[in-house]
Amino acid sequence: MTKQNHKQALTDPLFKKVTEAAKELKVECYVIGGFVRDYLLKGGRPKDIDIVVVGSGIALAKKVASKLPGKPKVSSFKNFGTAMIKSDHIELEFVGARKESYHRDSRKPVVEDGTLEDDQKRRDFTINALALSLNEANYGDLLDPFEGVIDLKRELIRTPLEPDITYSDDPLRMMRAIRFATQLGFRIDPKSLDAISRNKERIQIISKERIVEELHKIMASTKPSVGFSLLHKTELLPFILPELVALQGIEEIEGQRHKDNFWHTLEVVDNICETTDDLWLRWAALLHDIGKAPTKKFHKKIGWTFHGHEFVGSKMVYKLFKRLKMPLNDKMKFVQKMVLMSSRPIVLAEDYATDSAVRRLVFDAGDYVDDLMTLCEADITTKNPKKQRKYKNNFKMVRQKIKEVEDRDHIRNFQPPVTGEEIMKTFDLKPSKEIGIIKDTIKEAILEGEIPNEYKAAKKLMIQKGKELGLKIRS
Ligand code: ATP
Repeated sequence: MTKQNHKQALTDPLFKKVTEAAKELKVECYVIGGFVRDYLLKGGRPKDIDIVVVGSGIALAKKVASKLPGKPKVSSFKNFGTAMIKSDHIELEFVGARKESYHRDSRKPVVEDGTLEDDQKRRDFTINALALSLNEANYGDLLDPFEGVIDLKRELIRTPLEPDITYSDDPLRMMRAIRFATQLGFRIDPKSLDAISRNKERIQIISKERIVEELHKIMASTKPSVGFSLLHKTELLPFILPELVALQGIEEIEGQRHKDNFWHTLEVVDNICETTDDLWLRWAALLHDIGKAPTKKFHKKIGWTFHGHEFVGSKMVYKLFKRLKMPLNDKMKFVQKMVLMSSRPIVLAEDYATDSAVRRLVFDAGDYVDDLMTLCEADITTKNPKKQRKYKNNFKMVRQKIKEVEDRDHIRNFQPPVTGEEIMKTFDLKPSKEIGIIKDTIKEAILEGEIPNEYKAAKKLMIQKGKELGLKIRS
């Protein structure tokens, strides 16, 4: 095969500095991995550049930094033999070429110095093992010992070594294979896919944080269903998200069937990805139906029900986040809220939405009402075009109504127009249950549309309710 040269990928002056530094240290070095892959795929601008050095990564990083304007700091990790320089527009990572061997119970290898080819062999996929020379003699030459370029053309994820070895050595690579297949829209080599299935149990030695990192990347891609179908097919999913696996399948009793909520969920996720990049809203779509498995019941008269699945689902969100060591912060609370409220707009859209029902929705959802509508619109997966049109139109009307109610009543982030303090002053009260009753009466009257969300009307109702409760106005 003729040697390919890609000098044009290496025009950034940073590369020249690396070449100079390597020459002075008398070591060879290469750009490797994601930068080369994405360049050949004509992908976007890379955010980081990995450089492999046949020698010390840390020494080369220091030399390079000394040549750069402003002499940027080098962060080195002695245990791993790696070093990083953050330049203003890019991150440069240096690593010494190495040879690795693994033990069964750990993804931490025994590491020795190695050649470029040794280093390429320890890479996860052929398309990630591509290297471009930064050495003067053959600057820009592509080094592709495993036919990575052909795999890029074939759109194929393949391991440089026997897949069983690659995946068993570091089971995180199983997640990475599926993640790259999802991000790039590539196929996974059938041999690789079989090896992933065979090695699935080894995923248990991987930290939850690393798994979640890959899940986030799958979720951030254009069509996450590709990744989740692969996780399902290879049977990795039960180790990661058993709650989703439990949604799979259609049961039939007395001729009554329910839909397969697993495949439905994946459709909802793909749908929502067309309208939002918000990672957590995408997660809410993934988890919106998880309460359906534990709440599923069959009733002779009405068929299948999932009563209370939204509430049960929102509780499951907490457990799932905790198990996967995901943040138990406002992001988790947001996902919980979305799951809890996920059926509310649907009920409105099925029927004529009254102003008071819309006001209640806005009151309960607060700032998240738009996200909730986005989730519910994505939840329309019916294949019946007539129904599809009807639901979409109904949601449009609900959105319109939300806007009208918002403009008129300012219910979002509702602040009561009469404060507890004013109630206490007016009736000369100490903190007591009457204050709560009056406040609630005002809130309910506003939500029901009986009075406008204004001070004057609220004060009038406060006095009326106070009298009903037998309270006296302070003279
Ligand atoms: P992206 O930045 O889009 O995730 P990338 O290919 O740059 O893509 P990194 O995780 O930054 O991904 O890894 C850089 C390179 O290091 C990869 O291209 C690959 O060659 C190698 N690599 C990373 N993780 C592994 C692993 N678990 N096993 C083997 N090689 C790996």
